[in-house]
Amino acid sequence: MGTGQVTEANPYDMALAQYDGAVKHLALKRGIEDYLRVPKRELTVNFPVRMDDHTVKIFTGYRVHHSTARGPTKGGIRYHPGVTLDEVRALAMWMTWKCAVLNLPYGGAKGGVVCDPKRLSLQELENLTRRYATEISVLMSPEGDIPAPDVNTTPQIMAWIMDTYSMHRGYPVPAVVTGKPVPVGGSLGRAEATGRGVMVSTREALAQLNLPLRGARVAVQGFGNVGSVSAGLLHAAGARVVAVSDSRGGTRHPEGLDPRALVRHKRESGRLDDYPGGESITNEGLLASDCDVLIPAALEQQITAANAERVRARLVVEGANGPTTPEADAILAARGVLVVPDILANAGGVVVSYFEWVQDLQAFFWSEEEINERLERLMVRAFLEVGATARDKGVDLRTAALVRAIERVAEAIMILGIYP
Ligand code: GLU
Repeated sequence: MGTGQVTEANPYDMALAQYDGAVKHLALKRGIEDYLRVPKRELTVNFPVRMDDHTVKIFTGYRVHHSTARGPTKGGIRYHPGVTLDEVRALAMWMTWKCAVLNLPYGGAKGGVVCDPKRLSLQELENLTRRYATEISVLMSPEGDIPAPDVNTTPQIMAWIMDTYSMHRGYPVPAVVTGKPVPVGGSLGRAEATGRGVMVSTREALAQLNLPLRGARVAVQGFGNVGSVSAGLLHAAGARVVAVSDSRGGTRHPEGLDPRALVRHKRESGRLDDYPGGESITNEGLLASDCDVLIPAALEQQITAANAERVRARLVVEGANGPTTPEADAILAARGVLVVPDILANAGGVVVSYFEWVQDLQAFFWSEEEINERLERLMVRAFLEVGATARDKGVDLRTAALVRAIERVAEAIMILGIYP
């Protein structure tokens, strides 16, 4: 891998190593190859927030645009104590590829605020969100850059971003952000869209492996929006959810767990590892679960050189962005484990974000059936196209998805030309 040792440490090095692995299969012009290795623009903001005890705390946030060649930039905002500029750079680059794999008319962006939202009151969270939205509004607009939810950010937070932007404009601008609540211009089906896409990807990948979805044993790391909805939809489709975890640990049951009961339990107790219907496990234990499908749906760099040998699944479907390091990818490939990469597997969220943006711009809203059908069609088409590229070029699905994406972005750059 291009950047060798450092890839385990830094998500941006990881994104670059994946990029370098893919461009080997393309005859890109040197200028284009260099251009796409770096983000187009990066903003760091340090800003004050009034806390409930009347003190003022200074927070740091970022918004990075990786590429605008295929359209306005799109990508979520995360709130997490571990956010760094390099992480946001990597996530922005992955958004460029994700939008291109699905052929959405967008470039990639990402934002983040270094904070622990679990330690903020609702009022503090609103103050932080409105100020961060104001700080990044120099880079955000319905025509230019459209944020969305990501780790620890919710429809309510998207509503505050929309309202803040609209207050500055003097009129409502719903299309400036997606993942909003339905009553203020959100889309039906958006909240479940990432999980629905993970379910579709899992179903398609199992079909390729000639394995039935019914009865397939699934382990899910992360029980936020992506993990919990994926578990629920896979359970509804007949799979057996044998283990789940969140940041504190998890629970397992070889006969299968009921995701709805787990959601209720987590809402009441705040954790999963004390679920009475299962046996408690650690996060490391979850990754080594006896299962057919492993769905990492938490953070990046979870499956690494240190634990990839212990993965027992036949199929890994990346609900999170960047959960598998390049070293782990190589180990999994050598062991015959199929990996459906993040930029394909978890693209359902940004697909329905695109639908939400289109509906907002037209002020005309679609039915949930229409949204789910279109999502299904786009996901299946992308899955088949990536599979065909993988077979043609003799590469894994991640490389194939990257090759398709980079080709599309490079084509746009060639057509646009270099200004001035
Ligand atoms: N944060 C999500 C992702 O990583 C959604 C992005 C969006 O909807 O713009 O794909």
